[in-house]
Amino acid sequence: MNTTGFGKRKKAEILIVEDSLTQAELLRQLLKENNFNVTHAENGKQALSILEKFIPDLVISDIIMPEMDGYELCTRIKTDERLKDLPVILLTTLTDPEDVLNGLTCGADNFFTKPYQEDYLISQILQIISQPKIQKNENIRIMVEIFFAGKKRLITANQMQMLTLLLSTYESAVMQNRQLLRTQEELKQLNITLEDKVNLRTAALNETMEKYLDLYNNSPSMFYSFETSSRSIIECNDTLINLTGSKRIDIIGENIFLLYHPDSHKEATRFWETFVKTGEVRNFELELRSGPGGKIPVLINVAAVRDVNGEIISGRVVMQDITARKLVEKELLASKEKAEESDKLKSAFLANMSHEIRTPLNGILGFSDLLKDPSLDEKVKVDFINTIDKCSNQLLHIVTDIIDISKIESGVDKAKPVVFNLLELIHETQAFFQPLADLKNLKIIFMNNLPSSLVNIFSDPIKLRNALNNIIDNAIKFTDKGGIEINISDNNNFLLFKISDSGIGIEPAFQKIIFDRFRQVELSNTRDYGGNGLGLSLAKSFTELLGGSVEVDSSIGEGSTFTISIPLVRPEINITDIKINEPGNSAEIAWSKKTILLAEDEESNSNLIKMILKSSGVNILFAENGSQAVDLCRNEKGISMVLMDIKMPVMDGLAATRLIKSFRNSLPIIATTAYADINDKQMCFDAGCNDYLSKPFRKGDLINMISKYLV
Ligand code: ADP
Repeated sequence: MNTTGFGKRKKAEILIVEDSLTQAELLRQLLKENNFNVTHAENGKQALSILEKFIPDLVISDIIMPEMDGYELCTRIKTDERLKDLPVILLTTLTDPEDVLNGLTCGADNFFTKPYQEDYLISQILQIISQPKIQKNENIRIMVEIFFAGKKRLITANQMQMLTLLLSTYESAVMQNRQLLRTQEELKQLNITLEDKVNLRTAALNETMEKYLDLYNNSPSMFYSFETSSRSIIECNDTLINLTGSKRIDIIGENIFLLYHPDSHKEATRFWETFVKTGEVRNFELELRSGPGGKIPVLINVAAVRDVNGEIISGRVVMQDITARKLVEKELLASKEKAEESDKLKSAFLANMSHEIRTPLNGILGFSDLLKDPSLDEKVKVDFINTIDKCSNQLLHIVTDIIDISKIESGVDKAKPVVFNLLELIHETQAFFQPLADLKNLKIIFMNNLPSSLVNIFSDPIKLRNALNNIIDNAIKFTDKGGIEINISDNNNFLLFKISDSGIGIEPAFQKIIFDRFRQVELSNTRDYGGNGLGLSLAKSFTELLGGSVEVDSSIGEGSTFTISIPLVRPEINITDIKINEPGNSAEIAWSKKTILLAEDEESNSNLIKMILKSSGVNILFAENGSQAVDLCRNEKGISMVLMDIKMPVMDGLAATRLIKSFRNSLPIIATTAYADINDKQMCFDAGCNDYLSKPFRKGDLINMISKYLV
């Protein structure tokens, strides 16, 4: 620091007496910077020897020093006639009143408290150096006797010295006070900052705590911790409370074993033993208690908390609800078992089917061979033909069932509801089954309990008939004496068909599974009755397509009752005469003036049709492929209708139909095809066919179809 105002004065000489070389050096630097010449002595003794040779303008002395302290040095200076006017500044801590008294006693001119303020020290030095005379003039010593700290003290000091000391003490006190205030202020600020910081950290900590608590409580996993010695639960998260449906108060403090269902206590014991032994449990599966009697499967993991000696004091548990996984596992197992079962059933079905197909085929081939014998009398021939007819029907039945089941399985089969005469359908069914029942000497009774107003309904008659047929067919098949009752009624917008028989009955265990496809093959007692195990499955599927259901009630040896119930939808308009399929009789038909074209590449098929239509007198033209059929239609104007096979060489039936329709649009064309798929049917209609007859067809079907168009 440079006191510029005194820059031009003669350099004053100052003697520093200071035993600490660092302190001395600091003071020397300060004084030099402020244009003073400095001499240094390390203690009072050294200072006195310097003063013998040279008298400086000022002595600044530390107090506590070896050999001779500052008080003594000051006393020696002030009592030495040569030196007594030499001003002495003592550097004191002024923390003890003794310091002041000692300072006064030794005659010091000024006091500075350590640590001193540099500015203040320099200004005081300048003041002392510039006013030595006043001090000298006022140098009248007063002797004062005072009592201090229980001791009598005699103080000799001049007024100026006292005043200076007083002021110096006061200034020092003021400065210290200021310093104190500053420090207090700084402390206050620090405190505020600290408080702010603490508040911020506390808030951050609270936020983190809240976050963790949130995660802890809202985690899909369940958490709890327990004390090892008592096995009691210390705390747990909300998920555990919610999933088990318990109250926290019922869980905290309880034995951990109470959390688990008695069914898994053995596993819980194993988990506990593992924990105590290893301090760790990984992926144990247990069942938690949940609500009254309920249980939740859980996957449990536990980690130990140890004390400084490594002893396990508590455990932290994480549990995952594995209900969904267990369900999937169960479902997978069930599907696996079902797949294996289906596989077994299918293999058995194939074996049985081979038997079911070969038996009627054998009959057809065998009796056809026998028919070739010209010596057979007419009655035997008719018997043979009837057997062939029966076998053919059986075969057709099997093929139809297989096609039906595959259509249902592929989902293409849908109900096609129309308005139809229900009574008509019942009569036809009765007429169809009566001969079969007669063959077995069984009574077949139809009980119609429908209100007389209920004639027409809106449903799919083909599906309904198929469902009924399969069940009535079984009733006749599995009944050897007694009879079959078919009861039809309505109940709350449902139509009920109850088919009861007095047959062999079905064991309760089988009643649930007989609707599964191929199931029959498993039941050994039914082997005697034949069948492919598809009938009931089809009946069920058809009923379901109609929005209904089928049930069975049966007692072994007493008989069975199957109930089909379908929604009863009454049509808005009532029609009275809807024929579903009326078998035709060619004998009554006379078409001798008509010509039809038969496009068919299979000779056996054309011969069959030729024979069926022979008695009707109709004139038949033949085409072996589509191309010939087109030519004939173009050239023979007398053709009234076409029976068109679809699969033919050269040109198929669809292409031929399209061409024929292009020049004779009104000519009826009936597609005849061995494909029975709904898509093939649609393709025929798309090509322009007027109707569709699937092979094999019965005589009646063909006559009916031709009658419809040959008018
Ligand atoms: P199947 O072609 O063998 O008749 P179904 O699916 O129609 O096949 O019937 C499955 C099995 O249910 C039959 O094989 C038979 O064991 C039993 N069943 C069906 N209807 C009756 C009935 N009315 N009386 C006794 N058993 C029946």
